[in-house]
Amino acid sequence: MFNATLRFDLGDDTNALRDLVHDWAQTRVRPMAQQIDADNLFPAELWSEMGALGLLGVTVPAEFGGAGMSYLAHTVAVEEIARASASVALSYGAHSNLCVNQINLNGSPAQKQAFLPKLVSGDHVGALAMSEAGAGSDVVSISLRADKRNDHYRLNGNKYWITNGPGAQTLIVYAKTDPDAGAKGITAFLIDKDMAGFSTSPHFDKLGMHGSNTAELIFDDVAVPFDNVLGAEGRGAGFLADAPVARIFRDAKLMEIGAGTSEIRRMLIGREMMGAM
Ligand SMILES: Cc1cc2nc3c(=O)[nH]c(=O)nc-3n(C[C@H](O)[C@H](O)[C@H](O)COP(=O)(O)OP(=O)(O)OC[C@H]3O[C@@H](n4cnc5c(N)ncnc54)[C@H](O)[C@@H]3O)c2cc1C
Repeated sequence: MFNATLRFDLGDDTNALRDLVHDWAQTRVRPMAQQIDADNLFPAELWSEMGALGLLGVTVPAEFGGAGMSYLAHTVAVEEIARASASVALSYGAHSNLCVNQINLNGSPAQKQAFLPKLVSGDHVGALAMSEAGAGSDVVSISLRADKRNDHYRLNGNKYWITNGPGAQTLIVYAKTDPDAGAKGITAFLIDKDMAGFSTSPHFDKLGMHGSNTAELIFDDVAVPFDNVLGAEGRGAGFLADAPVARIFRDAKLMEIGAGTSEIRRMLIGREMMGAM
């Protein structure tokens, strides 16, 4: 097994997944990491490769094409990809966790059947759009509106900083359905990029994370059927807070920092000791 810095007994399946992802990321992704950064473009072919390896639906049951594994296993996959390229890992996490896992957790059986297989195979790319130019940490202050009509909603407004936004076919988008109801007035929608009135900006030239494509999303009177509500109306803000995966995914970032710090410290201490000899 690959010698991870922190050695926990994660079980045979998760250890095997770590080996698989480590080998793929080190032989395939690491050699292209510098070029990805220079080109500021995610290599589209990696989606189908990750799909073939079973990495896009780690937490999704086999009936929808997934691996049916734990959040811990998913976190290990993110960690090993990030070891090779942080920007590939960011795009991978947005797709496999924020989008795919969210549909798996909160989607109806029909929604799962309609959306998950293509996302898990890598035929479609996924994104999740919550943030806006004026609403980051304070997500309850989003202003994208979803107004109810007879048999559909109309979405108007913008989202900002959306990972995979430029190419995603399936996007989970949070909108205000009841502006006076605070966190209870937010609803999540499943958006297809081909819906009329939906468009994206070109991908941003960010300071870092080059190659993890990020964009603004623009909703100009987009008609969204009732069937595309993810979960129930007014449950949007609850999804991220309720789901343990959000906490685990955030906290895993700290683990990455901790593991990296530990590696660097060992290197620096080692250098000091060698220099003193
Ligand atoms: C590369 C990248 C990819 C992203 N991808 C996505 C995506 O796929 N989908 C999506 O929805 N969003 C995405 N975002 C947006 C991201 O979620 C927001 O940047 C984040 O929520 C922070 O919001 P903000 O940038 O407006 O910063 P702010 O909310 O303005 O925060 C700025 C700083 O102030 C601190 N702060 C804020 N409020 C408080 C407070 N009350 N008390 C103390 N400190 C506070 C924050 O911790 C932070 O350090 C992405 C951002 C980046 C940079």
